[in-house]
Parts: sequence; structure tokens; C-alpha cells
Amino acid sequence: PAELRKRKVAVLGARSVGKSSLIMQWAEGCFLDSYYPTIENSVSKSLNLKGVQYDCEVIDTAGQDEYSIFNSRHAVGIHGYVLVYSVASRTSFDMIQVLYDKIVDFCGVSQIPCVIVGSKVDLPARQVPTEEGQQLAKENSAAWIETSAKQNVNVGKVFELCLAQVDKQTSGKQTE
Ligand code: GDP
Repeated sequence: PAELRKRKVAVLGARSVGKSSLIMQWAEGCFLDSYYPTIENSVSKSLNLKGVQYDCEVIDTAGQDEYSIFNSRHAVGIHGYVLVYSVASRTSFDMIQVLYDKIVDFCGVSQIPCVIVGSKVDLPARQVPTEEGQQLAKENSAAWIETSAKQNVNVGKVFELCLAQVDKQTSGKQTE
């Protein structure tokens, strides 16, 4: 039987950057155009990567801003993070470092297993160049990718990268 790893992943970022849409596309394979405010929600999915079965629980959060106090529910028991900004929103990009620092502070560590996601690449009005996203990820030793939930571009990759980051940072340590 394949090795089994249980992974809990939290998806964070500013409101309406497409967190729910990303998770929905990943878990259900569909995209909804209408905006529906997120109630805190979680989705489970199992996937097989290189002979390892990952049982994932993905937590969709309501969205943060620079003033929201970091919620301990988004750190306790979480293995990996998906931090989402929209490439069409500079403000949402600026939120990523703020969020990253809040998580690192809360956890009392220097870095966290994390993938930074530039969403909505299908939109024409880009405000955040690709290179800036890559640079931010590099500075924080995070993985990085650009996606479109609408056109189903790189959606699966987000979670694969996140799981790889978790494995990378937890190897050698005791995990479930
Ligand atoms: P959340 O608040 O971060 O969970 O964002 P939602 O998933 O609710 O999405 C907010 C709005 O952006 C909705 O109207 C979505 O249809 C839209 N949206 C989400 N992902 C994409 C995308 O990849 N491309 C485009 N063009 N719109 C998107």
C-alpha cells in the first residue's frame, strides 16, 4: 500500500483575489463567475504524487486585510500555506508580505512551507509583473506560481507545490 500523508493547508490572501474559486476549481473542477463571499469552509481531497497518497484538507478563509488580527485557527495544525494575490491588484500583492510576517511571527519560526500564488492571469489589466511575484517568493524561500481559476491554468500545480514545500521543510522532523 502507498505511504499516506495527512496534510492541512490554509489558503489566505485579501478578499476577492479568488481563493474560493481556486479551491473550487481544484476540488470540483468548475468555475463560478458570480462573487460569493466566503464563509470559512474546508474541502478534502486525496491525491497521489510519486507513489505517496496525500489526504488534504484545504481551509478556505474569509480573506484578510492589513488590519485583521492573524487568526490562530489559520496556524494551529496547519502544515502548509497558499498565499494568494491577484495579478490585477497591487493592494492584494502588498498584503502577501504582511500576511507572511504575521504567520511567521505567530508560529515563532523563520520560515513556513508556503506557495505564493498570483491569480487571475487571464485578466488584461495586470498590476503586478511576473518578476515581482518571483522576487517576493525568492526573498521568503517560498514557491511561486501564476494561475487562472477561470481558465483552469496551473490550479493543480498550486497544491502540488505546497505539498512539496511541506515535505521539504518537514523532512527530518516528526510528522503525522
Ligand atoms: P475570494 O474572496 O478570494 O475567495 O475570491 P472568489 O473566489 O470569491 O472570487 C472573487 C471574484 O473573482 C469572483 O467574481 C470570481 O468569479 C472572480 N475570479 C476568481 N478567480 C478568477 C480568475 O482566475 N479569473 C477571473 N477573471 N476572475 C476570477
